Amino acid sequence: MEYLPEFDLLRPNTVDEALSLRRERPDARFLAGGTDLIVNIRRGIAEPGTVIDLTGIAEIRRIARQDDGGLKIGAAVTLAELLERPELTDEYQALREAAAEVAASSHREVATVGGNLCLDTRCLYYNQSEWWRSANAYCLKHRGEVCHVAPSGKHCFAAFSGDLAPAIMALGGTAEIAGPDGRRTAPLGEIYQDDGAAHLRLADGEMISAVQLPAAGTWQSGYAKARVRAAIDFPLAGTAIALRTDGRALEDIRVALTGTNSCPILIAGTDRLLGEAVGEEMAEQLVAMLPKQIQPMSSTFTPPGYRRKVVANLARSLFQRLIEAP
Ligand SMILES: Cc1cc2nc3c(=O)[nH]c(=O)nc-3n(C[C@H](O)[C@H](O)[C@H](O)COP(=O)(O)OP(=O)(O)OC[C@H]3O[C@@H](n4cnc5c(N)ncnc54)[C@H](O)[C@@H]3O)c2cc1C
Repeated sequence: MEYLPEFDLLRPNTVDEALSLRRERPDARFLAGGTDLIVNIRRGIAEPGTVIDLTGIAEIRRIARQDDGGLKIGAAVTLAELLERPELTDEYQALREAAAEVAASSHREVATVGGNLCLDTRCLYYNQSEWWRSANAYCLKHRGEVCHVAPSGKHCFAAFSGDLAPAIMALGGTAEIAGPDGRRTAPLGEIYQDDGAAHLRLADGEMISAVQLPAAGTWQSGYAKARVRAAIDFPLAGTAIALRTDGRALEDIRVALTGTNSCPILIAGTDRLLGEAVGEEMAEQLVAMLPKQIQPMSSTFTPPGYRRKVVANLARSLFQRLIEAP
């Protein structure tokens, strides 16, 4: 039977206090809604002696319009709170659609933006009980020597399955990061790398304090997701698109994916489409860019080839939806 092991629970009131507690306890993990971390602790794939609960920090629980028309969303804002503020978030449809499709409504009441962005990578051979994993000699990501997905190599192919990251990347969002060396900002995509065992490029002791979105202006956006169980499930693949047109030609576009790699992917080469007439032909050109930039592996119940087709169909239909929108 799986049980929750003992750990110390610390509840700081400020970001600085959280960082200093983390410095004092190098084995500590930050905790937000706990809908990912607590599950992993129970399964024995995360074993912190201390967890530092970020949800009591008022400064990272706010959503606020910025002077330049953009939006700042604190890392400890819950997905339910995000969805309850349409007056601030309606113009960022990709974010709203992604948040509305994370897990189930009960999870979204506590699940946070920061926790979603820092979600652990997932794999058939990793998200299993202790007895299951021990019977299979564990895996490269945790305690084992072999990646069961690609046994001949030494690379972990666990997939990133967060829904918000591609939406925020398509919207041109940046992460505000607080750490032992001070505060910094980075385009969200820069906090990730394509390594299932170490997909976050945050330095030791760093946390995300907020996400900033630029003013939406005339950008239109959306998110489309495929999952096994429609009511509650991680994405097999998810696609976010943000674009601007002058009614006929494409002025700008960003496309980002989740579920296909160990990190969310911002599709490169889309600038070739700028200035061209939007329509079905452009949708096919866009879809043709995807295969070489993604690498789904056998880390889920569905085969990689299936996820390749799914991601192409999601991108095609989402692009059509956006260009046909009034
Ligand atoms: C049944 C089920 C279905 C799910 N379905 C989905 C789904 O469809 N889509 C999806 O995206 N997710 C899904 N999830 C995962 C999870 O619920 C969400 O990703 C959620 O948003 C995680 O946020 P949290 O606040 O609960 O994170 P936590 O569990 O508290 O933390 C997750 C990770 O992020 C770290 N962390 C938290 N906050 C910060 C911060 N501010 N800075 C740095 N690190 C931080 C923690 O240390 C931990 O490693 C599902 C989970 C379950 C149990």
